[in-house]
Amino acid sequence: MEKKLQAQIAIITGASSGIGAGVAKSLAIAGATVIINHPVAATKDAAEAVLTEIKTTGGNGITYQCDVSKEEEVIKMFADIVAQFGTVDILINNAGLQRDSPFEKMTLEQWNFVLGVNLTGQFLCAREAIKEFLRRGVIAERSKAAGKIICMSSVHEVIPWAGHANYAASKGGIMLLMKSIAQEFAPKKIRINSICPGAIQTPINRSAWDTPQALASLLTLIPYQRIGQPEDIGNTAVWLASDDSDYITGASIFVDGGMTLYPGFSTNG
Ligand code: NAD
Repeated sequence: MEKKLQAQIAIITGASSGIGAGVAKSLAIAGATVIINHPVAATKDAAEAVLTEIKTTGGNGITYQCDVSKEEEVIKMFADIVAQFGTVDILINNAGLQRDSPFEKMTLEQWNFVLGVNLTGQFLCAREAIKEFLRRGVIAERSKAAGKIICMSSVHEVIPWAGHANYAASKGGIMLLMKSIAQEFAPKKIRINSICPGAIQTPINRSAWDTPQALASLLTLIPYQRIGQPEDIGNTAVWLASDDSDYITGASIFVDGGMTLYPGFSTNG
């Protein structure tokens, strides 16, 4: 099989579980050396388990602890990875979380926590990645682009979500962060896009799929009639990171089984 990301260095934030772990596995199969980021000491074992699975299938990588909402830690992570591997080619800005609440009861701590990881974390990592892409420029044998950033957004960058105002605001923010920097750095041959997952079966939304009743209710929102898997996102990430998508920048790619097709209107509204 052709390895479309051969010898490229990819940092995947929040990769010790769920979508991040799935994307790390897919990128590794495509030949990338993967940096499996995780936030705290307690997530190290899970990150190591992802790395072990990747190595079992012939992949290569390391784990790296860094809380993406902390500026000093993000700067250090990029400096350490460049020192160890020479450069970074791909950033998957994936780390994200929810702290749900009815809006009138939402605390400033809940608001700041979600915005801090989901939006500020993507800003900090993208800024450090872009500094490195600008320093290195295009190396034709690696890729036609000087670097690729993939932001993990959500269908909730366009679908409002009652009870989740902080999360939806963070994803709406990612959309214009991504498009603004895609516009700014396209002339430097840096491509920046978002993947907008619908419902993917991971720990973040366990209550939406872990009983038959919950899953049946969820499927009423998904025209394609199945819940997504991390591999669905991993396959898209490999394509978006590879030269196969070289003319694509500033795009939000919805990987959602049709969730954004207004399924409520499928029976005449
Ligand atoms: P998940 O809970 O399995 O993964 C989130 C990861 O982020 C975890 O590994 C966690 O350790 C990590 N993380 C949290 N705070 C961090 C920090 N400060 N620094 C570094 N890492 C941190 O959930 P998931 O479903 O895999 O979510 C991954 C991304 O996909 C998130 O951005 C989420 O918003 C997005 N998303 C998920 C779905 C879905 O249906 N699962 C849908 C749309 C978008």
